[in-house]
Amino acid sequence: MGRRQLWRKVSSIPMITYFKPAGIRMAELEEIRLLVEEAEAIRLKDLEGLEQEECAQKMSISRSTFSRLLDSARQKIADALLNGKAIRIEGGNFEMAVRRFRCLEGHEWEVPFETMISDPPELCPKCDTPSIMPLFPPGMRHRGGHGPMRSTRA
Ligand SMILES: [Zn+2]
Repeated sequence: MGRRQLWRKVSSIPMITYFKPAGIRMAELEEIRLLVEEAEAIRLKDLEGLEQEECAQKMSISRSTFSRLLDSARQKIADALLNGKAIRIEGGNFEMAVRRFRCLEGHEWEVPFETMISDPPELCPKCDTPSIMPLFPPGMRHRGGHGPMRSTRA
């Protein structure tokens, strides 16, 4: 698990993952790719108003890494906003901080990131069935073959 510190912890993925300026034809549209962890950096710092230190802790990264993510996110958003480019939110190196599971009987529950690593669930906590599956958050696509809720930098 030596590579795990490369993955940034993300606790939510935006519902809407594509923004497009009005009045520009698709053929002329430039697109900016905002990584999911950059969107998370903006969410924690600018939407929730947390201190950088706190944001970095929540994402399990150093403060300087968080600072770079935030700068890059703001730069991309400013570029899109002021230069009329589309924004697509996708990809990056991140892990969901909380994963939802569902069993065959329809019970759903959440497993914190730490538990996923130390003790991944094998049985439904309500009915003990081993027939369980992770749920995909909205907007997530399975890519790279790294597991259903992990996205790789393309
Ligand atoms: Zn169950």
